[in-house]
Amino acid sequence: MTVLERGWLSANNIVFAARPGNGNGDSDGAAVVDTGYVVHAPQTLALVEATLQGQPLARILNTHLHSDHCGGNAALQAAYPQVQTWIAPGQAAQVRAWDEAALSYRPTGQECPRFAITGVLQPGSTVWLSGRGWQVHAAPGHDPHSVILFEPESRTLISADALWENGFGVVFPEIEGIAAFDEVAATLDVIERLQPLTVVPGHGSVFTDAGAALATARRRLDGFVQSPGRHASHAAKVLLKYKLLEWQSIPLPALQDWVQATPYFGLLHRRYFAELSARQWLDGLIDALVASGAALRQTGADGTPMLLNF
Ligand SMILES: [Zn+2]
Repeated sequence: MTVLERGWLSANNIVFAARPGNGNGDSDGAAVVDTGYVVHAPQTLALVEATLQGQPLARILNTHLHSDHCGGNAALQAAYPQVQTWIAPGQAAQVRAWDEAALSYRPTGQECPRFAITGVLQPGSTVWLSGRGWQVHAAPGHDPHSVILFEPESRTLISADALWENGFGVVFPEIEGIAAFDEVAATLDVIERLQPLTVVPGHGSVFTDAGAALATARRRLDGFVQSPGRHASHAAKVLLKYKLLEWQSIPLPALQDWVQATPYFGLLHRRYFAELSARQWLDGLIDALVASGAALRQTGADGTPMLLNF
């Protein structure tokens, strides 16, 4: 297993070399878990190729279908025409119909090129990777359809966005007004019961102190439960910062247009910040990003106000 640690725009990719002998008489073809964001697809392809050292990629597995986890699927499928693609259950029909609204790409204003799927990773089943059996566990919360993978012998967990060293991913159902904080808590309980020794998160470095990460995650979750507006504001800033990572720099008028055209911002604004005008709310979000050091305001050569990734 090789962990390709990426950044925040692209989720980490976990590459498994092909290996015979899974106990069923089959060989485990080489596999990659999660494939990054579309703008990094050429880099993902190069990294996977270099890691596999000539082995063909036989399987793509997606923990969930957010754009930063499956944005490289199409490029890998083009490079490896024989590759199979296995996704978390619950959205197979939407992928087959390529329903960009249901798949979150339209509401988040993010991009993901269309890809084909082979089947689903059913919770309760085992998937064989490099000669070891990995349990598939449902991990709803951040995304209702997410799965995580656990290898019980080494107690290694691929936690996707359900648990990071310093928290967890935005609770997307809550943006749409669907209660999901309880599911986040239940998934943290599932992870605690697995007692992982090593955690490979969807973003950030591999870590070993799962107990500390769980404590941090529960503290953050508690803050969100106490004050859902805090989560709403956090979600809006994450969506904004994410797009800024993609753009690197953007004229403010273009940013305002994008926010206006991106449904999740409208939902968050109406539900939690309706006392502010859309413009006041956005200005406040930008101020917060600048104050936290995540963005920089600048004036372009022609006098256009710009926002820069920082
Ligand atoms: Zn995600």
